[in-house]
Amino acid sequence: MAFKLKPLPFPKDSLGPTMSATTLEHHHDKHHAAYVKKLNELVAGSKLEELELEEVVRTTADAETPKERKIFTNAAQIWNHDFFWDCLAPNGGGLPPEPLMKRIEADFGSFDNFRDKFVAAAVEQFGSGWAWLVTQKGKLAITTTHDADNPLTTKAHALWTCDVWEHAYYLDYQEDRAGFVKAVMENAANWQSVGKRLIESDR
Ligand code: FE
Repeated sequence: MAFKLKPLPFPKDSLGPTMSATTLEHHHDKHHAAYVKKLNELVAGSKLEELELEEVVRTTADAETPKERKIFTNAAQIWNHDFFWDCLAPNGGGLPPEPLMKRIEADFGSFDNFRDKFVAAAVEQFGSGWAWLVTQKGKLAITTTHDADNPLTTKAHALWTCDVWEHAYYLDYQEDRAGFVKAVMENAANWQSVGKRLIESDR
């Protein structure tokens, strides 16, 4: 098996009630695991099997054949979920540490304004996808992507994300995507890891 399902970086019952253990069981052990299984089937015996996951995503981003497109979507979804889990933490949320907080205030006016804009963008994303906090040319920005697409294939550097596929929130929030994204930001976001990524991206 070329690609592996990374374990969650926190216990499944540690994000409740923001994200229930049942949601994480389905989301990580079923959905995320299925992308890994599928990617391994698709790349078996090919050169892609030897690449790092990020390289597979970049190599297949402009896929020309349906099979390459499938490889891209499965590889990107694995990367997106690995990244998403690293964006969450038990007892997370609250206000970001410095210097992230200062940058949020500079680029969005206030943390509340940033949160509201992020939630609005996540809700506006039509259908399945992802909402991202990115940094590009030294400025923070909010973007959204469709299905498996992510900032890896753009000039932007991903700092934080929230999965807005229905499988991420339907069990706990039904159709209330806004409620889900707001709760994740306020109670489960790992702003410490975002702060570290911001410092790395500034180097
Ligand atoms: Fe997901």
